[in-house]
Amino acid sequence: MFDVVVIGGGITGAAASLSLTEQGLAVALIEKRGIAAMASGWTLGGVRQSGRDPAELSLARAAVAIWPTLGERLGADVHYRRGGNLRLARDENEVAIIRELVDRQRAQGLELEFFADNSAVRAIAPAISPDVLAASFCPSDGHADPIATTLAFAQAAKRKGCTLREGVAVNAIRVEKGRVTGVDTNAGFVPAGAVIVAAGVNTPALLAARGLHLPLRATLVQVLQTEKLPPLLDQVFGVANADCAGRQEIDGRLRVTSGSLAFQGDVDGWSEQTLAPSRTEIAHLRELIGKVLPAVKDAQSHRAWGGLIDLTPDALPVLDAPEEIRGLVIGAGFSGHGFCLGPISGEVLADLALGHKPRHEISAFRLARFASAERRAPAALSLHG
Ligand SMILES: Cc1cc2nc3c(=O)[nH]c(=O)nc-3n(C[C@H](O)[C@H](O)[C@H](O)COP(=O)(O)OP(=O)(O)OC[C@H]3O[C@@H](n4cnc5c(N)ncnc54)[C@H](O)[C@@H]3O)c2cc1C
Repeated sequence: MFDVVVIGGGITGAAASLSLTEQGLAVALIEKRGIAAMASGWTLGGVRQSGRDPAELSLARAAVAIWPTLGERLGADVHYRRGGNLRLARDENEVAIIRELVDRQRAQGLELEFFADNSAVRAIAPAISPDVLAASFCPSDGHADPIATTLAFAQAAKRKGCTLREGVAVNAIRVEKGRVTGVDTNAGFVPAGAVIVAAGVNTPALLAARGLHLPLRATLVQVLQTEKLPPLLDQVFGVANADCAGRQEIDGRLRVTSGSLAFQGDVDGWSEQTLAPSRTEIAHLRELIGKVLPAVKDAQSHRAWGGLIDLTPDALPVLDAPEEIRGLVIGAGFSGHGFCLGPISGEVLADLALGHKPRHEISAFRLARFASAERRAPAALSLHG
């Protein structure tokens, strides 16, 4: 019998597992494939506060305060670098969007600069194109290695006594008399006093069987990773309309991403092949990103892949313990920006599983907000990266 079963070995589930294990609970982390097999492995790895919805900003700021301490806490190098985030404007319309973003987020207390011309942008990032007109710059944003980080959380949890079960799929959450009693897996029943569902795009199916509706839409983001290049760029960059983003990893590879694209496939039946971009799509991505970061045009490809985003109608996550089922906790729907939040989402989900008042304000992230048809109207994915 476990105190808590956590479903999903992405950064959200792994961070929650560590937090609970550190607090002395008996925890099982159950992962269908392998640690970081989905979004937490596919991601760009940006760790940013800039461009956040106001409802999410304080969580992002709390996460950014934790990131520099992770290497020591987890006993592993997560390749975290605080090089800042540049949000680039390619035309006058985008200049206006970025200027508004800077004013709004400064008013919320975020340290954010506005670079009003190309020379100001290239003074800190000479690799950016001379065609870029302006940018926002948040110096306290950064990036990290997503697989190293997620594995580090899972391994730290395991060292502290968490039971880690990879290659085991949860088929159903078992509920008796309005309270969770455990999970049914392809390797048998696992009893537990509480269950955290952190299964990314696969979360709605697990909840639907218990009568809970999470309106998630899966979208696709394409990623290109280049050969190793000499140092070019410290910052993560994005653009005003979120149709591309990128960063240089610390080994020199550029990792660049498309915007959010339609996905018609099956969130259970995907394979690397079905998600991977075609040659034409990679050429398009190079051309798009080459307009803001010319070095990407001629760099040799190392790898390309596609990744799914768990997009909610308002592009905000669900962090909640719905009243309908006691002992059930949900952490999903991060809508393309949950990697940065991982360390803090893990703490909040642990609080909810323990029945404590969460240490952060999370009223904007309740599942029940989608009960209203108005709140179910789909939003565009904004400002990822
Ligand atoms: C291309 C791309 C770029 C991104 N860029 C950024 C960025 O720059 N910054 C940022 O903050 N965020 C970014 N994101 C989003 C971020 O990666 C995700 O929000 C975050 O990784 C979500 O983590 P998670 O643990 O909630 O979900 P996931 O990492 O998807 O983990 C869910 C896990 O649950 C497992 N699972 C599913 N069903 C079951 C089951 N039935 N039983 C057991 N296990 C199950 C899956 O195998 C998976 O490992 C990006 C995402 C993508 C795809």
